[in-house]
Amino acid sequence: MGSVQGTCPKCGAQVREKCNAWVYGSPIRTCPKCKNEFLDKRWREVAIDGFAVGPKSAKLYLGATIGFLLFTIICILWLRNMISTQGSYPTKLVGCIVVGTVGTAGCAVMFLRIITGYEDKQNARYMAESKRRLQDQNYVDKLISFGYTVPDEFKY
Ligand SMILES: [Zn+2]
Repeated sequence: MGSVQGTCPKCGAQVREKCNAWVYGSPIRTCPKCKNEFLDKRWREVAIDGFAVGPKSAKLYLGATIGFLLFTIICILWLRNMISTQGSYPTKLVGCIVVGTVGTAGCAVMFLRIITGYEDKQNARYMAESKRRLQDQNYVDKLISFGYTVPDEFKY
């Protein structure tokens, strides 16, 4: 889970919304303060824009997991070596270990989500929601009026 933060173009209010990691959802957002609708292109209308990550990218995440893991191990060994030989270590090295650990965990989770089919299920849900929105003529017209490119198959 993540969130997107932005500014309402109508009233200037700070808008913070929860979203999934790839920001799937309607690009037409409603300002919680002034209730005006505005276009936020960071959101992906998946029936139009497609998914950010292909279902076949499991290998990529496995590779990234191994890469981050090796990087983390090398940094830890280096850190141990620095402590035993010099009694001190650069803080940057600790930062590298933190980044490596977070990267390893993040990629491993993504890998598991893909191979267990969890990601496909989530994607199917987002696709169904997106298609449902696009069946609404008013919604499609609104997207177009906001300058969003809508393929002909969704126009009526
Ligand atoms: Zn507003």
